[in-house]
Amino acid sequence: MTDFSATFSDTRALFHIPEGVIYLDGNSLGPMPVTAAERVRQAVRDEWGEMLITGWNRAGWMAQPARLGDRIARLIGSEPGSVAVGDTLSIKVYQALAAALELRPERRVILSDSGNFPTDLYMAEGLCQSLGRGYRLRTVPPEEVAAAIDDSVAVLMLTEVDYRTGRKHDMAALTARAHAAGALTLWDLAHSAGALPVDLGAAGADFAAGCTYKYLNGGPGAPAFIYVAPRHAEAARAVLSGWLGHAAPFAFEPSYRPAQGAERMRVGTPPVLQMAALEAALDIWDAVDMHALRAASVALCEQFIAGVEAACPTLTLASPRNADERGSQVSFRHPEGYAIIQALIAEGVIGDFRAPDILRFGFTPLYIGPAEVDAATATLARVMKQRLWDDPQYRVRARVT
Ligand SMILES: *Cc1c(COP(=O)(O)O)cnc(C)c1O
Repeated sequence: MTDFSATFSDTRALFHIPEGVIYLDGNSLGPMPVTAAERVRQAVRDEWGEMLITGWNRAGWMAQPARLGDRIARLIGSEPGSVAVGDTLSIKVYQALAAALELRPERRVILSDSGNFPTDLYMAEGLCQSLGRGYRLRTVPPEEVAAAIDDSVAVLMLTEVDYRTGRKHDMAALTARAHAAGALTLWDLAHSAGALPVDLGAAGADFAAGCTYKYLNGGPGAPAFIYVAPRHAEAARAVLSGWLGHAAPFAFEPSYRPAQGAERMRVGTPPVLQMAALEAALDIWDAVDMHALRAASVALCEQFIAGVEAACPTLTLASPRNADERGSQVSFRHPEGYAIIQALIAEGVIGDFRAPDILRFGFTPLYIGPAEVDAATATLARVMKQRLWDDPQYRVRARVT
């Protein structure tokens, strides 16, 4: 049997993990790649500090979003030139959704699932409000999505992996179904990029967007990315028609002309310092085999589920039991979930809580191995057996959970 953890035994040293911490929250904010500190310091001191405005050319800042986009493209099964980096995921979802709707002008329905991450639903609601003319967002339970696709649907907007439960949609099957009904698809890859192999090209996806601060480890505030299928690249309108998506930004023309392909989805000045951190993270990703990563991730998740179910009978599995239907996270339910997570963090195991009752744990083989899974399971078992969570201090809700 292959020891999947061994494949990644060397990558742990590439991350700074604080002493005494088992980090099971890389699905929310990835840890810092060791080289990121030096890369950001260099960008600040040698580039911004010394080059000043000449850094846009000399340090290649202006070309950076496209270069980073091409490196992300490999991880999500898309071709060079089809991914642009910048802004935040909320903005990229809005932009992709608006562009997709325009490609189906005779239809009015955005179909999503009720488990989708709120910002995606909020952005869709806001867009419908701005558009008026009968545009509306329809949400159905995740398991009813396929059956709800009909010829009223302009865009099927889904997050591939559910942020709460880790439930994974079948991207290829749902995309095929949407296309058969004449609809386009927008896939949110927030919990997919860097978590599992994604093949947008093979699935025939039309648009996609994702963030780089979760599994990709680009750091807090790292820019988002947007994918436009090459077959739509010339027809898709940028919608947020900022000057850096213009065909010739430095011609300073009075009227907008779109750049070629995904480059038109750029909006304004790129976050140069954040991109420096992301660049350091992608140095690691360039060498990762996503299929090997997936095998290791599944093994870690299975180990955690078995361990927790054996040791913590009051926790109920909220994730699909079948690994093929799951992303790279495992969630359990408990009415005191918030307090349990706070107690667990105090014991050095960082997971997170998602309302109303979800305890969520992300598994990222780059820096988590079987030994960490066992240790985390043992700590959780102790928190439950000794009721360490049953303490008023753990019931006080912080601003960010
Ligand atoms: C994390 C996440 C977001 C976050 O959007 P930001 O604009 O980066 O804050 C959006 N959608 C999904 C599905 C997410 O998981």
